[in-house]
Amino acid sequence: MSKTYQNIKGTFDILPEASTSDGTNVAGSASWQFVEAAIRDVMALYNVEEIRTPIFEETELIARGVGQLTDIVSKEMFAFERGDTNYVLRPEITAPVMRAYLQHHLDQRGGVQKLFYVGPCFRAERPQKGRYRQFHQFGCEVIGTDDARADVEVIAMMLAVYEKLHISRTELRINTLGDAPSRAKHKEALKTYFESYRNDLTETSRKRLDTNPLRILDTKEESERTLLVDAPRLIDFIDDESRRDFDEVKSLLADLGISYREDHFLVRGLDYYTRTAFELESPDLGAQSALAGGGRYDLLAQELGSKHPVPAVGFAAGMERLFLALQAHGVPFPEAQGIDVFMVALGDEAVRWTFNQSQQLRRDGFRVGLDLKGRSMKAQMREANRQRAPFAVIVGNDELGSGVAQLKDMVTGAQSEIAVSNLSDTIRTLKAAEASVD
Ligand code: AMP
Repeated sequence: MSKTYQNIKGTFDILPEASTSDGTNVAGSASWQFVEAAIRDVMALYNVEEIRTPIFEETELIARGVGQLTDIVSKEMFAFERGDTNYVLRPEITAPVMRAYLQHHLDQRGGVQKLFYVGPCFRAERPQKGRYRQFHQFGCEVIGTDDARADVEVIAMMLAVYEKLHISRTELRINTLGDAPSRAKHKEALKTYFESYRNDLTETSRKRLDTNPLRILDTKEESERTLLVDAPRLIDFIDDESRRDFDEVKSLLADLGISYREDHFLVRGLDYYTRTAFELESPDLGAQSALAGGGRYDLLAQELGSKHPVPAVGFAAGMERLFLALQAHGVPFPEAQGIDVFMVALGDEAVRWTFNQSQQLRRDGFRVGLDLKGRSMKAQMREANRQRAPFAVIVGNDELGSGVAQLKDMVTGAQSEIAVSNLSDTIRTLKAAEASVD
Protein backbone atom coordinates (compact mmCIF):
# COMPACT_ATOMS: atom_id res chain seq x y z
CA MET A 1 0.00 0.00 0.00
CA SER A 2 1.43 3.40 -0.89
CA LYS A 3 1.81 6.06 1.77
CA THR A 4 -0.63 8.93 2.00
CA TYR A 5 0.61 12.25 3.29
CA GLN A 6 -0.70 14.59 5.93
CA ASN A 7 0.02 18.20 6.71
CA ILE A 8 2.57 18.66 9.49
CA LYS A 9 1.20 18.80 13.06
CA GLY A 10 0.62 22.38 14.15
CA THR A 11 -0.01 23.56 10.58
CA PHE A 12 -3.30 23.81 8.70
CA ASP A 13 -4.65 23.61 5.21
CA ILE A 14 -7.05 26.47 4.60
CA LEU A 15 -9.71 24.90 2.40
CA PRO A 16 -12.51 26.60 0.45
CA GLU A 17 -14.88 25.68 3.27
CA ALA A 18 -14.42 25.63 7.04
CA SER A 19 -12.87 22.36 8.21
CA THR A 20 -11.66 20.62 11.34
CA SER A 21 -8.10 19.49 11.82
CA ASP A 22 -6.74 17.95 15.04
CA GLY A 23 -9.87 19.14 16.83
CA THR A 24 -9.34 22.74 15.72
CA ASN A 25 -11.85 24.55 13.57
CA VAL A 26 -10.12 26.11 10.60
CA ALA A 27 -11.97 28.88 8.82
CA GLY A 28 -12.46 28.53 5.06
CA SER A 29 -10.53 30.63 2.57
CA ALA A 30 -13.48 32.97 1.96
CA SER A 31 -13.50 33.80 5.69
CA TRP A 32 -9.78 34.48 5.60
CA GLN A 33 -10.29 36.81 2.66
CA PHE A 34 -13.07 38.55 4.56
CA VAL A 35 -10.90 39.10 7.65
CA GLU A 36 -7.90 40.17 5.58
CA ALA A 37 -10.11 42.65 3.73
CA ALA A 38 -11.25 44.08 7.08
CA ILE A 39 -7.61 44.48 8.14
CA ARG A 40 -6.73 46.17 4.85
CA ASP A 41 -9.73 48.51 5.17
CA VAL A 42 -8.67 49.59 8.66
CA MET A 43 -5.05 50.06 7.60
CA ALA A 44 -6.19 52.24 4.70
CA LEU A 45 -8.16 54.46 7.12
CA TYR A 46 -4.97 55.01 9.12
CA ASN A 47 -2.94 55.59 5.95
CA VAL A 48 -0.75 52.55 6.50
CA GLU A 49 0.97 50.97 3.50
CA GLU A 50 1.60 47.27 3.01
CA ILE A 51 5.02 45.65 3.19
CA ARG A 52 5.75 42.02 2.28
CA THR A 53 9.07 40.52 3.34
CA PRO A 54 10.39 37.00 2.59
CA ILE A 55 9.30 34.21 4.93
CA PHE A 56 12.92 33.29 5.66
CA GLU A 57 15.76 35.44 6.88
CA GLU A 58 19.32 35.04 8.06
CA THR A 59 19.34 33.44 11.49
CA GLU A 60 21.54 36.20 12.84
CA LEU A 61 18.99 38.88 12.02
CA ILE A 62 16.26 37.03 13.92
CA ALA A 63 18.57 36.15 16.81
CA ARG A 64 19.49 39.83 17.18
CA GLY A 65 16.05 41.15 16.39
CA VAL A 66 14.02 38.82 18.58
CA GLY A 67 16.71 38.18 21.22
CA GLN A 68 19.10 35.29 21.73
CA LEU A 69 17.72 34.52 25.19
CA THR A 70 14.06 34.36 24.24
CA ASP A 71 12.28 31.00 23.97
CA ILE A 72 11.56 31.85 20.35
CA VAL A 73 15.21 32.00 19.40
CA SER A 74 16.67 29.49 21.84
CA LYS A 75 14.07 26.73 21.40
CA GLU A 76 11.53 27.41 18.71
CA MET A 77 13.24 28.29 15.48
CA PHE A 78 12.80 26.33 12.29
CA ALA A 79 16.34 26.76 11.06
CA PHE A 80 18.29 25.31 8.18
CA GLU A 81 21.64 25.68 6.57
CA ARG A 82 22.63 26.16 2.95
CA GLY A 83 26.28 26.65 2.09
CA ASP A 84 27.79 28.93 4.69
CA THR A 85 24.59 30.63 5.63
CA ASN A 86 22.10 29.82 8.38
CA TYR A 87 18.50 30.62 7.69
CA VAL A 88 15.38 30.63 9.77
CA LEU A 89 11.70 30.65 8.93
CA ARG A 90 10.57 33.95 10.39
CA PRO A 91 9.01 33.60 13.86
CA GLU A 92 7.67 37.18 13.72
CA ILE A 93 7.75 40.09 11.32
CA THR A 94 8.99 43.17 13.22
CA ALA A 95 12.71 42.42 12.77
CA PRO A 96 12.26 41.68 9.04
CA VAL A 97 10.35 44.95 8.59
CA MET A 98 13.05 46.94 10.37
CA ARG A 99 15.69 45.15 8.29
CA ALA A 100 13.83 46.16 5.10
CA TYR A 101 13.39 49.73 6.36
CA LEU A 102 17.12 50.10 6.98
CA GLN A 103 18.22 48.21 3.86
CA HIS A 104 16.04 50.25 1.50
CA HIS A 105 16.53 53.56 3.33
CA LEU A 106 12.78 53.97 3.59
CA ASP A 107 13.34 57.05 5.75
CA GLN A 108 14.28 58.82 2.50
CA ARG A 109 10.65 58.58 1.37
CA GLY A 110 10.15 61.33 3.94
CA GLY A 111 8.02 61.59 7.03
CA VAL A 112 7.01 58.71 9.23
CA GLN A 113 6.78 55.26 7.62
CA LYS A 114 3.63 53.36 8.53
CA LEU A 115 3.82 49.78 7.31
CA PHE A 116 1.47 46.82 7.80
CA TYR A 117 1.87 43.15 7.05
CA VAL A 118 -0.19 39.98 6.99
CA GLY A 119 1.56 36.64 6.64
CA PRO A 120 2.70 33.32 8.01
CA CYS A 121 5.15 32.92 10.89
CA PHE A 122 6.79 29.76 12.21
CA ARG A 123 7.62 28.62 15.72
CA ALA A 124 8.48 25.08 16.79
CA GLU A 125 6.18 25.14 19.80
CA ARG A 126 4.14 22.29 21.21
CA PRO A 127 0.88 22.63 19.28
CA GLN A 128 -2.22 23.32 21.36
CA LYS A 129 -5.36 25.42 21.07
CA GLY A 130 -4.31 28.89 19.91
CA ARG A 131 -0.65 27.87 19.56
CA TYR A 132 0.53 26.47 16.27
CA ARG A 133 3.75 25.87 14.37
CA GLN A 134 2.69 27.81 11.32
CA PHE A 135 0.38 30.65 12.27
CA HIS A 136 -0.39 34.01 10.75
CA GLN A 137 0.29 37.46 12.06
CA PHE A 138 -0.95 40.82 10.99
CA GLY A 139 0.57 43.94 12.40
CA CYS A 140 1.79 47.43 11.82
CA GLU A 141 5.04 49.25 12.46
CA VAL A 142 5.19 53.04 12.69
CA ILE A 143 8.83 53.94 12.14
CA GLY A 144 10.58 57.28 12.53
CA THR A 145 8.84 59.02 15.44
CA ASP A 146 8.90 58.84 19.21
CA ASP A 147 5.75 60.93 19.57
CA ALA A 148 3.24 59.44 22.02
CA ARG A 149 0.54 59.95 19.40
CA ALA A 150 2.18 57.23 17.28
CA ASP A 151 1.88 54.76 20.20
CA VAL A 152 -1.76 55.62 20.64
CA GLU A 153 -2.50 55.48 16.90
CA VAL A 154 -0.98 51.99 16.77
CA ILE A 155 -3.21 50.89 19.66
CA ALA A 156 -6.25 52.55 18.08
CA MET A 157 -5.78 50.88 14.71
CA MET A 158 -5.23 47.49 16.35
CA LEU A 159 -8.49 47.88 18.29
CA ALA A 160 -10.29 49.13 15.17
CA VAL A 161 -9.69 45.76 13.46
CA TYR A 162 -11.41 43.86 16.29
CA GLU A 163 -14.19 46.43 16.49
CA LYS A 164 -14.85 46.19 12.76
CA LEU A 165 -15.20 42.42 13.17
CA HIS A 166 -17.53 42.88 16.19
CA ILE A 167 -15.13 41.27 18.66
CA SER A 168 -16.07 43.29 21.73
CA ARG A 169 -14.84 41.26 24.70
CA THR A 170 -11.23 42.40 24.79
CA GLU A 171 -9.02 43.88 27.46
CA LEU A 172 -6.17 46.26 26.80
CA ARG A 173 -3.32 46.31 29.30
CA ILE A 174 -0.56 48.89 29.13
CA ASN A 175 2.69 49.64 30.88
CA THR A 176 5.82 51.70 30.41
CA LEU A 177 9.23 50.07 30.29
CA GLY A 178 11.15 53.34 30.66
CA ASP A 179 14.54 53.86 29.08
CA ALA A 180 17.50 51.48 29.02
CA PRO A 181 19.29 52.79 32.16
CA SER A 182 16.14 52.65 34.27
CA ARG A 183 15.57 49.05 33.17
CA ALA A 184 19.18 48.16 33.98
CA LYS A 185 18.68 49.47 37.52
CA HIS A 186 15.44 47.48 37.87
CA LYS A 187 17.19 44.35 36.59
CA GLU A 188 19.89 44.68 39.25
CA ALA A 189 17.27 45.14 41.95
CA LEU A 190 15.39 42.05 40.72
CA LYS A 191 18.57 40.03 40.73
CA THR A 192 19.32 40.98 44.32
CA TYR A 193 15.72 40.26 45.36
CA PHE A 194 15.42 36.83 43.75
CA GLU A 195 18.96 35.93 44.78
CA SER A 196 17.78 35.91 48.38
CA TYR A 197 15.13 33.32 47.38
CA ARG A 198 17.45 31.30 45.13
CA ASN A 199 16.66 28.03 46.92
CA ASP A 200 12.90 28.53 46.48
CA LEU A 201 13.16 29.00 42.72
CA THR A 202 12.59 26.37 40.06
CA GLU A 203 15.51 25.36 37.93
CA THR A 204 14.21 27.38 34.99
CA SER A 205 13.96 30.50 37.13
CA ARG A 206 17.41 29.93 38.61
CA LYS A 207 18.81 29.91 35.09
CA ARG A 208 16.84 33.04 34.29
CA LEU A 209 18.24 34.69 37.40
CA ASP A 210 21.67 34.49 35.83
CA THR A 211 20.66 35.35 32.25
CA ASN A 212 17.55 37.49 32.34
CA PRO A 213 15.83 37.93 35.72
CA LEU A 214 12.94 39.84 34.10
CA ARG A 215 11.70 36.57 32.65
CA ILE A 216 11.10 35.21 36.17
CA LEU A 217 8.13 37.59 36.24
CA ASP A 218 6.51 35.41 33.53
CA THR A 219 6.46 32.36 35.82
CA LYS A 220 3.30 30.29 35.97
CA GLU A 221 4.44 28.41 39.11
CA GLU A 222 2.07 29.23 41.95
CA SER A 223 4.85 29.02 44.59
CA GLU A 224 6.93 31.53 42.66
CA ARG A 225 4.04 33.82 41.92
CA THR A 226 3.75 34.60 45.61
CA LEU A 227 7.32 35.93 45.47
CA LEU A 228 6.31 38.36 42.76
CA VAL A 229 4.10 40.36 45.08
CA ASP A 230 7.03 42.01 46.84
CA ALA A 231 9.44 41.95 43.90
CA PRO A 232 10.87 45.35 42.88
CA ARG A 233 8.51 46.97 40.39
CA LEU A 234 9.82 48.48 37.20
CA ILE A 235 7.46 51.44 37.60
CA ASP A 236 9.47 52.55 40.67
CA PHE A 237 12.63 52.83 38.56
CA ILE A 238 11.20 54.66 35.54
CA ASP A 239 12.96 57.87 34.44
CA ASP A 240 11.06 61.15 34.51
CA GLU A 241 10.84 61.61 30.76
CA SER A 242 9.35 58.14 30.25
CA ARG A 243 6.88 58.87 33.05
CA ARG A 244 5.77 62.05 31.31
CA ASP A 245 5.52 60.15 28.03
CA PHE A 246 3.39 57.45 29.69
CA ASP A 247 1.08 60.10 31.15
CA GLU A 248 0.72 61.54 27.66
CA VAL A 249 -0.10 58.08 26.19
CA LYS A 250 -2.76 57.55 28.87
CA SER A 251 -4.28 60.95 28.38
CA LEU A 252 -4.43 60.47 24.58
CA LEU A 253 -6.05 57.06 25.06
CA ALA A 254 -8.62 58.71 27.32
CA ASP A 255 -9.24 61.38 24.66
CA LEU A 256 -10.02 58.64 22.14
CA GLY A 257 -12.31 56.88 24.61
CA ILE A 258 -10.08 53.78 24.72
CA SER A 259 -10.26 51.99 28.04
CA TYR A 260 -7.24 50.20 29.43
CA ARG A 261 -5.82 48.70 32.57
CA GLU A 262 -2.37 49.62 33.81
CA ASP A 263 -0.37 46.48 34.45
CA HIS A 264 3.05 47.04 35.95
CA PHE A 265 3.95 43.39 35.52
CA LEU A 266 3.63 43.64 31.74
CA VAL A 267 7.26 43.48 30.63
CA ARG A 268 9.39 42.53 27.66
CA GLY A 269 12.54 40.49 28.05
CA LEU A 270 14.56 42.44 25.50
CA ASP A 271 16.68 45.48 25.99
CA TYR A 272 15.66 47.32 22.84
CA TYR A 273 12.06 47.70 24.01
CA THR A 274 11.45 51.12 25.46
CA ARG A 275 8.56 52.96 27.06
CA THR A 276 5.08 51.85 25.94
CA ALA A 277 4.25 48.15 26.06
CA PHE A 278 0.73 46.79 25.61
CA GLU A 279 -1.20 43.59 25.21
CA LEU A 280 -4.73 42.85 24.05
CA GLU A 281 -6.41 39.86 25.64
CA SER A 282 -9.65 38.03 25.15
CA PRO A 283 -11.36 36.03 27.90
CA ASP A 284 -12.62 33.67 25.17
CA LEU A 285 -9.29 32.16 24.22
CA GLY A 286 -8.50 29.99 27.24
CA ALA A 287 -4.84 29.54 28.15
CA GLN A 288 -3.52 31.37 25.09
CA SER A 289 -5.38 34.56 25.88
CA ALA A 290 -3.25 37.10 23.99
CA LEU A 291 -4.88 38.35 20.83
CA ALA A 292 -2.13 40.84 20.11
CA GLY A 293 0.77 42.67 21.68
CA GLY A 294 3.15 45.44 20.92
CA GLY A 295 4.96 48.51 22.01
CA ARG A 296 7.82 50.83 21.39
CA TYR A 297 11.24 49.52 20.37
CA ASP A 298 13.41 52.60 19.90
CA LEU A 299 16.67 50.67 20.23
CA LEU A 300 16.03 47.84 17.73
CA ALA A 301 17.38 49.65 14.66
CA GLN A 302 20.78 50.10 16.28
CA GLU A 303 20.74 46.45 17.33
CA LEU A 304 20.35 45.68 13.62
CA GLY A 305 23.27 47.85 12.60
CA SER A 306 21.82 51.35 12.18
CA LYS A 307 24.27 54.10 13.05
CA HIS A 308 21.44 56.34 14.22
CA PRO A 309 18.59 55.65 16.58
CA VAL A 310 15.31 55.04 14.75
CA PRO A 311 12.33 55.34 17.09
CA ALA A 312 9.51 52.94 16.27
CA VAL A 313 6.34 51.45 17.68
CA GLY A 314 4.10 48.62 16.48
CA PHE A 315 1.70 45.81 17.19
CA ALA A 316 1.54 42.16 16.13
CA ALA A 317 -1.63 40.09 16.26
CA GLY A 318 -2.43 36.44 15.67
CA MET A 319 -4.96 35.65 12.95
CA GLU A 320 -5.86 32.19 14.28
CA ARG A 321 -6.66 33.67 17.69
CA LEU A 322 -8.75 36.34 16.03
CA PHE A 323 -10.75 33.52 14.39
CA LEU A 324 -11.13 31.80 17.79
CA ALA A 325 -12.48 35.06 19.23
CA LEU A 326 -14.84 35.48 16.27
CA GLN A 327 -16.15 32.00 16.85
CA ALA A 328 -16.67 32.65 20.56
CA HIS A 329 -18.60 35.84 19.70
CA GLY A 330 -20.71 33.91 17.19
CA VAL A 331 -19.92 36.43 14.47
CA PRO A 332 -21.20 34.97 11.17
CA PHE A 333 -19.07 35.14 8.06
CA PRO A 334 -20.60 36.23 4.81
CA GLU A 335 -20.94 33.31 2.43
CA ALA A 336 -18.43 33.03 -0.35
CA GLN A 337 -19.54 34.88 -3.45
CA GLY A 338 -21.30 32.36 -5.70
CA ILE A 339 -21.34 32.29 -9.48
CA ASP A 340 -23.70 34.26 -11.73
CA VAL A 341 -24.75 31.43 -14.00
CA PHE A 342 -24.09 27.75 -14.63
CA MET A 343 -23.98 26.54 -18.22
CA VAL A 344 -25.56 23.11 -18.74
CA ALA A 345 -24.89 21.37 -22.06
CA LEU A 346 -26.30 18.23 -23.68
CA GLY A 347 -24.71 16.79 -26.81
CA ASP A 348 -21.28 17.29 -28.35
CA GLU A 349 -22.08 20.42 -30.32
CA ALA A 350 -23.77 22.05 -27.34
CA VAL A 351 -20.83 21.16 -25.06
CA ARG A 352 -18.42 22.84 -27.47
CA TRP A 353 -20.65 25.89 -27.90
CA THR A 354 -21.12 26.24 -24.13
CA PHE A 355 -17.39 26.02 -23.55
CA ASN A 356 -16.72 28.88 -25.99
CA GLN A 357 -19.71 30.88 -24.80
CA SER A 358 -18.58 30.61 -21.16
CA GLN A 359 -15.26 32.17 -22.08
CA GLN A 360 -17.07 35.06 -23.78
CA LEU A 361 -19.31 35.58 -20.75
CA ARG A 362 -16.24 35.70 -18.48
CA ARG A 363 -14.68 38.30 -20.72
CA ASP A 364 -17.88 40.27 -20.22
CA GLY A 365 -17.30 40.04 -16.47
CA PHE A 366 -19.66 37.25 -15.39
CA ARG A 367 -18.75 34.44 -13.03
CA VAL A 368 -19.58 31.28 -14.93
CA GLY A 369 -19.60 27.63 -13.89
CA LEU A 370 -19.73 24.68 -16.27
CA ASP A 371 -19.15 20.97 -16.35
CA LEU A 372 -15.66 19.80 -17.28
CA LYS A 373 -16.35 16.07 -17.06
CA GLY A 374 -19.01 15.27 -19.67
CA ARG A 375 -21.57 14.49 -16.98
CA SER A 376 -25.31 13.81 -17.34
CA MET A 377 -27.86 16.64 -17.30
CA LYS A 378 -28.94 15.61 -13.79
CA ALA A 379 -25.37 15.71 -12.52
CA GLN A 380 -24.81 19.10 -14.14
CA MET A 381 -27.93 20.49 -12.47
CA ARG A 382 -26.71 19.14 -9.13
CA GLU A 383 -23.40 20.88 -9.70
CA ALA A 384 -25.22 24.14 -10.50
CA ASN A 385 -26.97 23.86 -7.14
CA ARG A 386 -23.77 23.02 -5.28
CA GLN A 387 -22.14 26.10 -6.72
CA ARG A 388 -25.17 28.15 -5.65
CA ALA A 389 -25.86 29.41 -9.16
CA PRO A 390 -29.00 31.55 -9.21
CA PHE A 391 -29.60 30.59 -12.86
CA ALA A 392 -28.73 27.75 -15.21
CA VAL A 393 -28.68 28.07 -18.98
CA ILE A 394 -29.49 24.70 -20.51
CA VAL A 395 -28.44 24.10 -24.10
CA GLY A 396 -29.00 21.01 -26.27
CA ASN A 397 -27.88 20.36 -29.85
CA ASP A 398 -31.41 20.81 -31.24
CA GLU A 399 -32.12 23.99 -29.33
CA LEU A 400 -28.84 25.42 -30.49
CA GLY A 401 -29.95 24.87 -34.08
CA SER A 402 -33.09 26.89 -33.48
CA GLY A 403 -31.21 29.65 -31.63
CA VAL A 404 -32.84 29.20 -28.23
CA ALA A 405 -31.86 27.86 -24.83
CA GLN A 406 -33.69 27.14 -21.60
CA LEU A 407 -33.16 29.47 -18.67
CA LYS A 408 -33.88 27.91 -15.30
CA ASP A 409 -34.33 29.99 -12.16
CA MET A 410 -32.62 27.74 -9.59
CA VAL A 411 -34.55 29.23 -6.69
CA THR A 412 -38.12 29.07 -8.01
CA GLY A 413 -37.56 26.29 -10.53
CA ALA A 414 -39.30 28.41 -13.22
CA GLN A 415 -38.08 27.75 -16.72
CA SER A 416 -38.31 29.95 -19.83
CA GLU A 417 -36.89 30.17 -23.31
CA ILE A 418 -34.16 32.69 -24.13
CA ALA A 419 -32.26 33.55 -27.30
CA VAL A 420 -28.68 32.26 -27.45
CA SER A 421 -27.52 35.21 -29.51
CA ASN A 422 -27.24 37.76 -26.71
CA LEU A 423 -26.65 35.78 -23.55
CA SER A 424 -24.56 38.52 -21.92
CA ASP A 425 -27.44 41.02 -22.15
CA THR A 426 -29.90 38.48 -20.76
CA ILE A 427 -27.65 37.63 -17.79
CA ARG A 428 -26.93 41.30 -17.14
CA THR A 429 -30.67 42.02 -16.99
CA LEU A 430 -31.25 39.06 -14.67
CA LYS A 431 -28.44 40.15 -12.36
CA ALA A 432 -29.77 43.69 -12.21
CA ALA A 433 -33.24 42.40 -11.35
CA GLU A 434 -31.75 40.18 -8.63
CA ALA A 435 -29.73 43.10 -7.18
CA SER A 436 -32.82 45.33 -7.00
CA VAL A 437 -34.67 42.62 -5.02
CA ASP A 438 -31.70 42.29 -2.59
P1 AMP B 1 4.37 37.64 19.87
O1 AMP B 1 5.23 37.95 18.69
O2 AMP B 1 4.79 36.37 20.58
O3 AMP B 1 4.11 38.81 20.77
O4 AMP B 1 2.96 37.26 19.25
C1 AMP B 1 2.04 38.20 18.76
C2 AMP B 1 0.71 37.50 18.59
O5 AMP B 1 0.84 36.42 17.66
C3 AMP B 1 0.21 36.85 19.87
O6 AMP B 1 -0.51 37.77 20.63
C4 AMP B 1 -0.68 35.74 19.34
O7 AMP B 1 -1.96 36.26 18.99
C5 AMP B 1 0.02 35.33 18.06
N1 AMP B 1 0.86 34.14 18.24
C6 AMP B 1 2.12 34.08 18.74
N2 AMP B 1 2.58 32.82 18.71
C7 AMP B 1 1.60 32.05 18.19
C8 AMP B 1 1.47 30.66 17.87
N3 AMP B 1 2.45 29.79 18.10
N4 AMP B 1 0.31 30.24 17.33
C9 AMP B 1 -0.70 31.09 17.09
N5 AMP B 1 -0.63 32.42 17.35
C10 AMP B 1 0.50 32.89 17.89
